[in-house]
Amino acid sequence: MTDDQARHHVRFVLVRTSHPGNIGSAARAICTMGFERLDLVTPQRFPDPEADALAAGAPGVLDGAGVHGDLPQALTGCSLALGLSARRRGVTLPELTPQEGARQAWQAASEGREVALVFGNEQSGLANDELAHCHAMVRIPSVEDYSSLNLAQAVQVVAYELRLAMLHGVDVEMPKPGDPPANLDQMEQFFMHLTQALEDIQFHKGRSPRTIELRLRKLFLRARPDQRELRILHGILAEAQRVQRKLEKALAGD
Ligand code: SAH
Repeated sequence: MTDDQARHHVRFVLVRTSHPGNIGSAARAICTMGFERLDLVTPQRFPDPEADALAAGAPGVLDGAGVHGDLPQALTGCSLALGLSARRRGVTLPELTPQEGARQAWQAASEGREVALVFGNEQSGLANDELAHCHAMVRIPSVEDYSSLNLAQAVQVVAYELRLAMLHGVDVEMPKPGDPPANLDQMEQFFMHLTQALEDIQFHKGRSPRTIELRLRKLFLRARPDQRELRILHGILAEAQRVQRKLEKALAGD
């Protein structure tokens, strides 16, 4: 795959952006580094003249931007999502430097996989629930007590590192024979099944399910299962649900 094809597999996702000027500046930032795919999740104001002004004409990026109702929708088709965060959060993901993140992202894009770089809201950053859709977190190593960059400047740093990865090249692995890796849509379907199955078998016993769910998401995202492995896991869950229903029926018949 050529670099020109690979760059179309990279999308920059801005989540719940408050300031339209940041959307414009982010569009300019990615454009200067040779990228053009921008996806917005529930932006506060978009389209907006301030976004247009700060994009400085970045050819077509704002016109082509996707606007989505939630993060999973913006990640449709992706098999790698990296969440940008200045802070380490409760359920820790593997943490990468911008250089490591960019190299992984560019490698995946060069293999024809869809890749997302996900950026949070200006005030609150990425919420735990949003980071839970990401395979790893990327932290720009800013100073401890003033760590938060302006959103568009964080986008610029990552776009620059991706550009370096593109210029220096990365070892592109040939796609492995066998089943393709599960993409994030398939992972979401699996997580919904897992949540339902744990509820059906009354796994939580009245405790809050959220922490366990976040930990399990982390585990399965780290494992990066392929589609066949995911089918096996679905099969196991379906069997547990079937046995549970049978048991409940038998008990009701007593
Ligand atoms: N107050 C927020 C910061 C939001 S800045 C917080 O503490 O999380 C807006 C976005 O820019 C962040 O969500 C993140 O995606 C990106 N960003 C800013 N500084 C960063 C850093 N040092 N490392 C990685 N991403 C950063």
